[in-house]
Amino acid sequence: DEWEEKGAAVGVRQEIDANGRPVLRSVSKGVKDFNFGRTLGEGSYSTVMAATDRKTNREYAMKVLSKHHIIKEKKVKYVTIEKDALNRLTDHPGVVRLYYTFQDQRSLYYVLDLCTGGELLGVLKRMTTFDEECARFYGAQILDTIDFMHGRGVIHRDLKPENVLLDGQMHVKITDFGTAKLLDVTPKKQATSNDVPSTGNLLDGSEESRANSFVGTAEYVSPELLKDKNACKASDLWAFGCIIYQLLAGRPPFKAGNEYLTFQKIIALNYEFPKGFPEVAKDLVERLLVLDPARRLTIDHARNHEFFDGIRWGHGLWKQKAPKLK
Ligand code: ATP
Repeated sequence: DEWEEKGAAVGVRQEIDANGRPVLRSVSKGVKDFNFGRTLGEGSYSTVMAATDRKTNREYAMKVLSKHHIIKEKKVKYVTIEKDALNRLTDHPGVVRLYYTFQDQRSLYYVLDLCTGGELLGVLKRMTTFDEECARFYGAQILDTIDFMHGRGVIHRDLKPENVLLDGQMHVKITDFGTAKLLDVTPKKQATSNDVPSTGNLLDGSEESRANSFVGTAEYVSPELLKDKNACKASDLWAFGCIIYQLLAGRPPFKAGNEYLTFQKIIALNYEFPKGFPEVAKDLVERLLVLDPARRLTIDHARNHEFFDGIRWGHGLWKQKAPKLK
C-alpha cells in the first residue's frame, strides 16, 4: 500500500539536475519544520493552509490530505496523479510548484507555492468582466502555461478560472492536477500540434477504468469528452476558449440549469456573444470553440492570433507587470 503508515515524516524535494531535468531527493523535512498559519481554503479531500518554513522563514501553501478520507472515497489514484503531474511541471512560473511532499500516520502533505492573489474566478467576479488588455494578459499567461504542460505530456482536463490561482504579483499559477492525464513522454516527441488521436490511443489502463465517469467541470468540458469519452490536448484548448469568453463576458459560454442541459448546449455548439464583445476576441473564441478537436486552433496558431498582438511570449511574459484590473 502506497500510503502505508510510515510513522516519522519523510520528505521528498524536487530539484533540477545539471541537464535541467527534475530529480527527486529525499530530505528530512516534515511537519515539524513548518509553522502553520491561516486556512486558505478547503477542498473535498483537503485543507490548504499557509505555512512558514521555520529555518528560512519562507511562506508556502500546505495542502493537507486525510489518508483515511482518501482511501475511504477511493481517491488514491487522483492524489497520485496530482503529485506525478506536479513533479513533471516544477520549472515553469505558470504552474503551482510542488516543493516537498511528506506524510505522517494521518495525513499527506504537499508544500506548494503560496498564491496570495486567490482564484482568477474570485477576481473576475469582483470585477464582473475584464477589459481587453487584462483578458489578453491573463489569456497569454494561461496559454503559455498550457503549452508548457503539453510539452511535458500533461493534459490538465479541468481548466477553469477556479483552477487558475494568482500569486503576489497577480501572475497566473495553474493548479488542481488531480484529474490530469499523463502521456508517455519520449524525449524526441516534442509535440506542438494539438495531437488529436485518430483512435483511442490516449486511453491507457487507468483511463479505461473510469472511461464512463465524467472528468472535469460541466461548463468547460469538451464535446469530444462528452461524445467519445476521450480527452486530448485540444480539449484543454476548448476550455481555454471558454475561459477567454468568460473573462470578457463575465460568464462561461455554455451554462444551463443543470449538467445535462449544459452538455446539450456544448454538443450543439449553442452559445452567443453578448453585445459589445470585442470582434478580435470573438474570432479567437470561434476558432477555439470548434466541435471537431482536429479543426480547433492549435497553441501555435492561438499564440499568433491577432488578439494576442503586442504580447511578448516566453520569458518576458513572466517578467512583465500585470496590468491594472479594469
Ligand atoms: P476539490 O478537491 O473539491 O476539487 P480544490 O481542488 O479547490 O477542491 P484544494 O486544491 O485542496 O481543493 O484547494 C482548496 C482551496 O485552497 C481552494 O479553494 C484554493 O483557492 C485554495 N488553494 C489551493 N492551493 C492554494 C495555493 N497554492 N495557494 C493559495 N491558495 C490555495
